[in-house]
Amino acid sequence: MPSSGTDRGAVAQTLVAYGIELARAGAVQVGDAFTDDVDADALVKGCDEAFLLGILFTQGIAAERAWAAPYLLKQRLGHLDLKRLAQEPDAVARAVARPPALHRFIKNVPVWIVSAAQQLLGEYGGDASRIWPEGEHVTEVRRRLLAFDGIGPKKATMAVELLVRNRGARLRGRECGSVAYDVHVRRVFLRSGLIDVDTPAEVQRAAADSSPEEPGLLDLPSWLIGRSTCRPKDPDCDACRLGAVCPRLTDRAVEGVGVRRSVR
Ligand code: SF4
Repeated sequence: MPSSGTDRGAVAQTLVAYGIELARAGAVQVGDAFTDDVDADALVKGCDEAFLLGILFTQGIAAERAWAAPYLLKQRLGHLDLKRLAQEPDAVARAVARPPALHRFIKNVPVWIVSAAQQLLGEYGGDASRIWPEGEHVTEVRRRLLAFDGIGPKKATMAVELLVRNRGARLRGRECGSVAYDVHVRRVFLRSGLIDVDTPAEVQRAAADSSPEEPGLLDLPSWLIGRSTCRPKDPDCDACRLGAVCPRLTDRAVEGVGVRRSVR
């Protein structure tokens, strides 16, 4: 049952309309720039392997910092050669950990990088684009991404969305895609009454109910709202895109990560 005072239909409609507006805007989507640094942005847009490394970094730190990391790693190592990444774990670890560290998970991230390089060489001929070839189905791409150390469902879903939306990958079955189980998305879903229970299944169900043909349409608008107005603390409901339809259940927080920033 909907939360008291919640018109889930109106909330869903508003998010879908916002999602369509963003999709039409195309080039001005926030995701169009992965990071403020022009060179770093160009690298993750133009180099498939760097994009995959960027996905590995997108956890527990700000998105802009995560997407700048492949470029900084390249600068520190002097290369992003997969064979060397795969064979020189100590160098990778030092490059990630050197102050200022490229990530706060200075033990895990280098392991993921080395593992990803090995996997790319062993299974994809050193070409990350073979993970998401033209015409491939999104579920298959997500499954392949999930096979990488350091990539869970959230990152895999996010990667597929970014591949399609920001890097122009032509994948089939995007309608099967859904929202990422992201802290911002979850907070907006909870506070707007789209969900009463914060579980991955409930988030996916709410997205599918709201936009049956393209659940993923809710992903970017929810994330943008979560990052801008529906902040963990002091949400700005009056300035929010959902302000007119949201029940403003602002006492609801995402458990365990209530005040942390998510990454994308
Ligand atoms: S900022 Fe307020 S109006 Fe907007 S989603 Fe959050 S609780 Fe709802």
